[in-house]
Amino acid sequence: MPEQLTPLPAAFAEFSPLRLEEPLARWTTLRVGGPAEWFFEPRRPEDLAALLTALHKAQIPFRLLGGGANVLAPDAGVRGAVIHTGALRRIFLEGTALRCWPGATIQQTVRAAAGNGLHGLELLMGVPGHIGGALAMNAGSADFGIWDVVEEVTVWEPEGPWKARARADFDPQYRNGNLGQAVSLEILLRLEKSTKVEVKITQEALLRKKNQTQPVTLFSAGCAFKNPLGESAGRLLDQAGMKGVSVGRASVSTLHANFVVTEPGATSADVLTLLEKMASAVLEYAGITLERELVVW
Ligand SMILES: Cc1cc2nc3c(=O)[nH]c(=O)nc-3n(C[C@H](O)[C@H](O)[C@H](O)COP(=O)(O)OP(=O)(O)OC[C@H]3O[C@@H](n4cnc5c(N)ncnc54)[C@H](O)[C@@H]3O)c2cc1C
Repeated sequence: MPEQLTPLPAAFAEFSPLRLEEPLARWTTLRVGGPAEWFFEPRRPEDLAALLTALHKAQIPFRLLGGGANVLAPDAGVRGAVIHTGALRRIFLEGTALRCWPGATIQQTVRAAAGNGLHGLELLMGVPGHIGGALAMNAGSADFGIWDVVEEVTVWEPEGPWKARARADFDPQYRNGNLGQAVSLEILLRLEKSTKVEVKITQEALLRKKNQTQPVTLFSAGCAFKNPLGESAGRLLDQAGMKGVSVGRASVSTLHANFVVTEPGATSADVLTLLEKMASAVLEYAGITLERELVVW
């Protein structure tokens, strides 16, 4: 159990719903992680911004949590606030663009694009998580990241008023939205007119491929490591003999060597130790240092 902070200032009562000591294992796709001291679920972007400002002013540490599909939370839990974006799930159609609140799920957004015959998000088919998390991670595939279709993002920043900023103001990298301390409150995705049928055919083909090559029915957080330039982390891990290797109740998927999968009873420590083993094996086998994609809290 983490050490308690001083009691939450009374002013935070207005930011309900608030849960205390909320187990993060419930909210992460690896199903591991101890309690979040304070767990907030704001319902509108302006409530999220006000909460962030209040936490910042009170010097209370906070973390954003979307679908928890790329986070490894510690067994001891985290002090301070975790802000879950799950209640911020609205999407608005604006011509060929989708304006999303950060908790819109990636799949809800992909479906909204298909349903309106809009092309541009197909490569996110089957990717779990929220749009805010996708932006923070620049989620996508080998040569696509969600930032490729971002036109504008409204962000909260510690020192500034929250405002809409153009894509050109950001510097996203491969699997890293590079947001720094900024928190996305609203995201405008610019897509292209296509037809519902064409978009759906592409999406379904991609989903079939994922279902065949990834352990989608098991608890995981997707790829644990980024692909090194011109290489595939999964191939390197496979060649280094890591498929099926386990630590405690965490193991390397036998289907895809870059996926760590967990069973009930797994701990964050199991996953961390396994990640170290995986990286060491590739360093020894190929002399390549793998960089983690999974965000370790
Ligand atoms: C089966 C499976 C398949 C996957 N396939 C892919 C894939 O093909 N491609 C891919 O890129 N990823 C993939 N992933 C990983 C994951 O789905 C993506 O990284 C996704 O974007 C994570 O979104 P999330 O909302 O779950 O983020 P979280 O895991 O909740 O958070 C990730 C990071 O984003 C930060 N964050 C969350 N919301 C905000 C916000 N509003 N503002 C600022 N920061 C924020 C968090 O603090 C954290 O640092 C896969 C995962 C699984 C389990």
